[in-house]
Amino acid sequence: MITFCILGAYIIYLNINIYNLKDTIKTKDELYKIQINNRINEINLLNDQLVDLQQILNIGLDLSKKDNIYLNTKLGEKDKEYILNSIPSGSPLERTFITSKYGYRIHPLTKKRRLHTGVDFKAKIGTHIYSPADGVVIKARNFDPGGYGKMITIAHNFGFKTLYGHMSDIYVKEGQIIQKGTLLGLTGNTGQSSGPHLHYEVKFAEKFVEPINFVYWNNKTFNTIFTKDLSLDWEKLILLVKERKND
Ligand SMILES: [Zn+2]
Repeated sequence: MITFCILGAYIIYLNINIYNLKDTIKTKDELYKIQINNRINEINLLNDQLVDLQQILNIGLDLSKKDNIYLNTKLGEKDKEYILNSIPSGSPLERTFITSKYGYRIHPLTKKRRLHTGVDFKAKIGTHIYSPADGVVIKARNFDPGGYGKMITIAHNFGFKTLYGHMSDIYVKEGQIIQKGTLLGLTGNTGQSSGPHLHYEVKFAEKFVEPINFVYWNNKTFNTIFTKDLSLDWEKLILLVKERKND
């Protein structure tokens, strides 16, 4: 009888142990899930910082060679002016205040990590937007299914394109040839927009590039672009511009 009692008590003790163990496993499981999620977030954040660092440092590039392109070719003022008129340079707005950078980010609405294909400039509705280079308006739409709202796309020389999203008014039409400085329209808050701003994109050969490198590009900072933007072969482009005069 005593043996049974002891055995019974032992079984109850074991059952309680198993129950506690199950509970511990459950909490541990949840804890690990939280830790794994935290780690994923940390990795995403580090990845973003790495992209930023790569852009700042231009890792893996022979900087001395890139600097020499400019020094070796000795571009004249007219050549520089031609390049700056042909390729998006300078800001599409008179004043620029960046509210969201180009690059990978956690989307504020969907919470998913995705590429922000342009840069967002804070701008009260009705701010003038100017073309940063000569070109042709290839899209001027009052509605865009991609969420850009009222938008314009311009094709520039040498394979560049710029896009302006969330506008309130458009002053140009598709097919129109425009000059650097042409008033394109007004900023707004149309489409998928969380507040009045201009979404500005720059593409080279159909690939997105960091718009800011081009926004801060002008006659005074002319050779900085050779080390900052590596999406195109600047050396070949400069040779082409120089040869243009030898016709
Ligand atoms: Zn944007």
